[in-house]
Amino acid sequence: MNVEAIAPETVPGWETVIGLEVHAELATATKLFSSAPNRFGGQPNTNVDPVSLGLPGSLPVLNEQAVELAIRVGLALNCQVQRSVFSRKNYFYPDMPKDFQISQYDLPINGEGWLELPDGHRVGIERAHLEEDTGKSTHVGGGGRIHEAGYSLVDYNRAGVPLIEIVGAPDLRSAEEARSYVAELRAILVTIGASDGKMEEGSMRVDCNVSVRPVGQAEFGTRCEIKNINSLRSLGRAISYEARRQVDLITSGERVEQQTRHWNEDEGRTHKLRSKEEAYDYRYFPEPDLVPVEPSDEWIDAIRAALPMLPRERRLRLAEAASIDTSAAALTVERGLDDLAVDAIAEGADAPRVLVHAENNLADGAGRLDGASFAALVKMETGGDLTATQTKTVLATLVAEGGEPAIVAADLGFEAMDIGEMEVLVDRLIAEHPDDWTAFISGDEQERKKKSGFFVGQVMKATNGKADGRAVNELLAHRARS
Ligand code: ADP
Ligand code: MG
Repeated sequence: MNVEAIAPETVPGWETVIGLEVHAELATATKLFSSAPNRFGGQPNTNVDPVSLGLPGSLPVLNEQAVELAIRVGLALNCQVQRSVFSRKNYFYPDMPKDFQISQYDLPINGEGWLELPDGHRVGIERAHLEEDTGKSTHVGGGGRIHEAGYSLVDYNRAGVPLIEIVGAPDLRSAEEARSYVAELRAILVTIGASDGKMEEGSMRVDCNVSVRPVGQAEFGTRCEIKNINSLRSLGRAISYEARRQVDLITSGERVEQQTRHWNEDEGRTHKLRSKEEAYDYRYFPEPDLVPVEPSDEWIDAIRAALPMLPRERRLRLAEAASIDTSAAALTVERGLDDLAVDAIAEGADAPRVLVHAENNLADGAGRLDGASFAALVKMETGGDLTATQTKTVLATLVAEGGEPAIVAADLGFEAMDIGEMEVLVDRLIAEHPDDWTAFISGDEQERKKKSGFFVGQVMKATNGKADGRAVNELLAHRARS
């Protein structure tokens, strides 16, 4: 079934409301409550100890590094960092041997905050709390589904890995915005070293709440929560599908039931997993084996002072340096090329050219290129010493090998063409092709364009591509006027 074709995300007259719950594994050396290694991959059940296996008599000891990373996340998301309490969330799954998960409930470490998308739109954060991850079940036989499987295997390597759960407010209104939110959140987590943000390895997982309402209605509709989304692409597809499903239900006189649904990537649709469970189903109570977490103001301040520049600040800085808006700065920042671009602009390079190169010619990174040589190169280009094509070639060499732009250009044989030489050449070509020249002078705009292409081509041929196409065009226009 081709979902994109039949399920446009926005149905006229309806609005989609989205709130995301993102789980990210924190990049600690060990687990949240024990010294077993926090490591992805490896032989099943090798990164375990009595605490991760939930053996009777084992007791949790809180990992200080996990708390520090959680506070970093809170500060980066403009949250209130506060005194927090761990709670037991009771439910049964074979991959959780204690039969409860230690999480935070009514007193999370990070309270309300916000995140800003590249377009300047702010999305609320409701909370960002600490909890432990579960193990992983593999159902063998029956296509991997639990009900049809012959037996199941459990790997506890992931059990007890520290997670931060970031609960976003229902402020998102389209699949595109939801993707932008997750991309921004991932960039923040990676920048502050809290998580590697790898969705494909499951170290960042997104649960997506979707509801729909008629445009103009103030109350939210009933939501469904979609699980098993493991790429930005699936996130967009799942939202489009689910919004359409809900609108279809309502317009055919039925009601949306609050459910937890599973995204099936191959089928391109969501399936009901279960009716939504309520908080009371989990019988939360404070974890008696852990004391409340009360980070001191000094500690919080020290963590804040050590935070690197965040993507939002970097976009603002580049936007200001280049006199553009923050969305136009987004790609360069995403690529990590903003330091280079800001340096090059500060050295006097033309900002639009700097950004064009960052976006089109440095997709694989800047390699050995530094701000000063980038600036020098762009100046050679805007000064007419190098054509756009030559600049690209020199740039590729600077990225791969480093060096001085002027020397690299000379080594590549890119001598700037003497303007007098060019005049002689252009006049000769005009004389050799009188019909083309007449068509250039007296033709309509299309004809003129065609013929200027012809003459530039001839000049390039005669000069082995050394001439500057723009200068040739200017010269042609000048000759046509005189
Ligand atoms: P629960 O405690 O049941 O998980 P919450 O109120 O904490 O419910 O909300 C969980 C997530 O659902 C949040 O990310 C929130 O933004 C989102 N959400 C809440 N109501 C809606 C709604 N009507 N439509 C879409 N998302 C919603
Ligand atoms: Mg929830």
